[in-house]
Amino acid sequence: MKAIIIGAGFSGAACARRLAEQGCDVLLLERSAHIGGNAYDEKKNGAFVHRYGPHIFHTNNEQVVKFLSRFTEWFPYEHRVLADLHGVFVPVPFNLDSLHKTFPEDKAAKLEAVLLREYGEGKKVPILELRKNPDADVRAFADFVFENIFRFYTEKQWGRKIEQLDPSIMQRVPVYVSREDRYFTDTFQLQPKDGFTALFERMLDHPNIRIVTGTDALTRLRVGEDGVFFDGAPCTDEVIFTGQADELLGYRFGKLPYRSLRFEFKTVPAPFQPAAVVNYTVSEAYTRISEFDKFTVERPAGDTSEIVYEYPQEYEAGKGMIAYYPVVNEENLALYEKYRAFLARFPHFHLLGRLGNYRYINMDAAVADALALADRLTADRED
Ligand SMILES: Cc1cc2nc3c(=O)[nH]c(=O)nc-3n(C[C@H](O)[C@H](O)[C@H](O)COP(=O)(O)OP(=O)(O)OC[C@H]3O[C@@H](n4cnc5c(N)ncnc54)[C@H](O)[C@@H]3O)c2cc1C
Repeated sequence: MKAIIIGAGFSGAACARRLAEQGCDVLLLERSAHIGGNAYDEKKNGAFVHRYGPHIFHTNNEQVVKFLSRFTEWFPYEHRVLADLHGVFVPVPFNLDSLHKTFPEDKAAKLEAVLLREYGEGKKVPILELRKNPDADVRAFADFVFENIFRFYTEKQWGRKIEQLDPSIMQRVPVYVSREDRYFTDTFQLQPKDGFTALFERMLDHPNIRIVTGTDALTRLRVGEDGVFFDGAPCTDEVIFTGQADELLGYRFGKLPYRSLRFEFKTVPAPFQPAAVVNYTVSEAYTRISEFDKFTVERPAGDTSEIVYEYPQEYEAGKGMIAYYPVVNEENLALYEKYRAFLARFPHFHLLGRLGNYRYINMDAAVADALALADRLTADRED
């Protein structure tokens, strides 16, 4: 069995490794000059700098950890994020400590007592639920969190008014009725000891995998009503595509909307800020600043830190931008469905990953989906 995989991010790379270990010959094509996709990192002044924004590994999926642990050692890392509210740093997700940092003590104590009584210690209460509470003080508190932590940040991230966004985005935002200040609460919270790029190098180091970087697969692959063609000939190999379906098909049904990002990297005197990531939720054009030294293992305290500012922007096809986030709403999903349905006629062609499936996924889900696809293909194989 032979496979052509487009994209060397977590989806393409994990699928390539699994297929290669089942005896499949894999050709892996990657448009950029390096492997790793969005998770690519490079060392600078002792810190792993993530070229496409900070990537923190967290999961409850033990099988994914087991698979990736063959290619890396880890160090435990629990991510914490603060929001800068006009110079006051408060933990996000908003918790009881955030409450005490933003309200006068007597008011904070009273609100804490109500939250503990009504929802119970440790509960994560969605902001929408809080806004429906019969107590006027709780509703005013919920409005405060919504306006100061959520609205401005979300609107600048998506470039759209909150009312135009999918309601599920708001549904997910919780207030923690506890002192829990970790950004993630998954069982496994780890960072690769030698960085993500080294993990990818080991994962793809297999005699059955041939990697070609710096090649846009669309210069070799063509998909149309008449079939799937590679280098001009009808293609009988399995094709696993982790790029954009609209781009692949020449935007025949219209362009799928995405958000892009612009990153501004700096080397600054250390330490720079009080947490690995600080979100700017009430001011500034950037959404957040990440300090990479704070999530690099055994980093000796140096004089400098590597930081990045993150500016959201609209994605425009053909301008050398990277599509980072699918803009998921009913209309866009219906458009994506046209692309998916068109490609479904080719049983050997498979869409995979964040772009291929037009949905935001974390790294662990990308790996889990990739392994599942590879297992399905090898279980069904005819050779
Ligand atoms: C700013 C940001 C921060 C994130 N932080 C986290 C985090 O903290 N934790 C977490 O778990 N997840 C995080 N994610 C999500 C994570 O990046 C994804 O889960 C992961 O990238 C999915 O891997 P993928 O292989 O599907 O996509 P990608 O990593 O994007 O890989 C797709 C690859 O396909 C290549 N490609 C596309 N089209 C073509 C073509 N025509 N020819 C050749 N190659 C092509 C691209 O160049 C790319 O390398 C973050 C995402 C972003 C945008």
